[in-house]
Amino acid sequence: MKILVPVKRVVDANVKVRVKADESAVELANLKMALNPFCEIAVEEAVRLKEQGKATEVVVVSIGPKAAQEQLRTAMALGADRAIHIETDEELVPLSVAKLLNAVVNNEQPQLVLLGKQSIDGDNNQTGQMLAALMGAGQATFASKVSVEGESVEVVREVDGGLQTLKLALPAVITTDLRLNEPRYASLPNIMKAKRKPLDTQSVEALGVSLGQHQKVLKVAAPSERQAGVMVASVEELVDKLKNEAKVV
Ligand code: AMP
Repeated sequence: MKILVPVKRVVDANVKVRVKADESAVELANLKMALNPFCEIAVEEAVRLKEQGKATEVVVVSIGPKAAQEQLRTAMALGADRAIHIETDEELVPLSVAKLLNAVVNNEQPQLVLLGKQSIDGDNNQTGQMLAALMGAGQATFASKVSVEGESVEVVREVDGGLQTLKLALPAVITTDLRLNEPRYASLPNIMKAKRKPLDTQSVEALGVSLGQHQKVLKVAAPSERQAGVMVASVEELVDKLKNEAKVV
């Protein structure tokens, strides 16, 4: 079984981003970039399936600028076998990403596509669902457990107030939730090995996809500043403030 794992280059989750002065986007210059955390979980799951003998090959794919090759190398250091880079400097909406991934699926014919449930920069949570529709395949989003059995896959999903278990026929699309696994760290020998793994660069044109702009960002704003808290000396003072200042009791 071949597994395709789409991975996105995003600002590192530990970096505090700042909004540009013209409020058009966040400032990306000179920021530390990383693999989207949910994509890292997807890579880990695919590699574990390979280690269990359920998968034969793990292929990672990223769409974005040349620098996205860094994240593809990281994914290969975590255990992916080879990488595909679709190089573009265009701003991408989820439908364009899904169409490009669908073109890769047509070429590669994977039995399973494992994506992150969402990219932490755009917070879209759309690509996996759109890809499943374009492929005409079953989908299980927010996976917290994945078990491949023969020609089908069983997925436990995190839903409001509980867990739902689904059985899907392969090929299928799965998106990963936070509790699916804890990704490993890449060891130095594996980082060195990843430099020699195959990385194939493809163009948007060669995949026959036109990138539509279906949406326009009008404004990006930082969350409003929270006021500093105050320490109160007694319960009486707290009740007084709640009654007379906050007026909530
Ligand atoms: P989103 O719908 O943008 O929240 O992204 C959900 C998932 O789609 C991500 O976790 C990735 O697995 C995949 N994805 C989104 N954008 C890209 C991209 N530019 N290249 C590769 N995969 C992507």
